[in-house]
Amino acid sequence: VKANGRNQFRFYDDGLRSQREHELEMISDLREALRSDQFVVFYQPRYSVQENRIVGVEALIRWRHPEHGLVAPGHFIPVAESSGLIGQIGEYVLREALRQNAEWRKQGIELEMSVNVSLRQLRSPDFPRLVSKILRQYGCPPASLELELTETALFEDDAVIHANLKALRTEGVRIAIDDFGTGYSNLARLSEVSVDCIKLDRSLIQDFARNRPILRMVIAMCKFMEVTIVAEGVETRDMAAWTAEHGCHELQGYYFSKPVPACEILPLLDQTFST
Ligand code: C2E
Ligand code: CA
Ligand code: CA
Ligand code: CA
Repeated sequence: VKANGRNQFRFYDDGLRSQREHELEMISDLREALRSDQFVVFYQPRYSVQENRIVGVEALIRWRHPEHGLVAPGHFIPVAESSGLIGQIGEYVLREALRQNAEWRKQGIELEMSVNVSLRQLRSPDFPRLVSKILRQYGCPPASLELELTETALFEDDAVIHANLKALRTEGVRIAIDDFGTGYSNLARLSEVSVDCIKLDRSLIQDFARNRPILRMVIAMCKFMEVTIVAEGVETRDMAAWTAEHGCHELQGYYFSKPVPACEILPLLDQTFST
């Protein structure tokens, strides 16, 4: 999601007030949402081709708005980022996701947990300490957590970001590049950063018939880097079969499940999927 809140949240836009006024109203509503616990975390399964089962989930925030119902993150994350509230909102997601991970662990269910992290969170010198504090609080092994960052975050020339990434990886937390293949994919710099996982953007996968040559190339490169390759936005059996056959290790998308509340994950774990 690009940092552009304009007209995204239509119901905040009655056409009479300025953009800035809408934004201020949303900021105050986001503060209220934090105070009165209106955020919820949904989970979308990640399927392992080799193990033929679900091995992890991605935590995706939703806003249970008192008037507007369940609001998707694309509508409010940009404003959360520009206002700085993403720090607190991101911390909520991290805490909630690891609490859930620990609860599943107690039931004997081990799932890797992926959490999205904004550039702004990563810029905070305290971020690695916060992450290890929450991991310890819930007794989650660091390797059960994967942080998803966009390329822009990884290629930022920022000493704090690099130090934070290093600290997190040293602790054992996994780092993934999200939405790979969109925007500027700086292939040259990719070899300079060390990551554990690359998630191919769903725009590449959804038009896989046309994108075959570039997908083949990108997958070959990821293999060379020895990272886990995840195909996002896998919606059909055809997409699942092609990406599995061509070397993606894990698949995520509506073909397996849309993001669901935690309680709906368990039945999916026993389901078999054909790819
Ligand atoms: P993302 O990290 O790329 O997450 C994947 C998005 O693709 C999710 O949208 C998911 O519902 C959607 N998706 C999954 N499978 C399919 C599919 O097969 N087809 C299609 N068409 N879409 C699929 P969602 O949940 O609306 O999230 C949108 C974005 O909001 C996320 O994109 C992420 O960038 C951001 N976001 C979500 N939760 C958080 C969070 O806790 N913190 C931060 N900073 N950003 C978040
Ligand atoms: Ca809650
Ligand atoms: Ca993501
Ligand atoms: Ca993505």
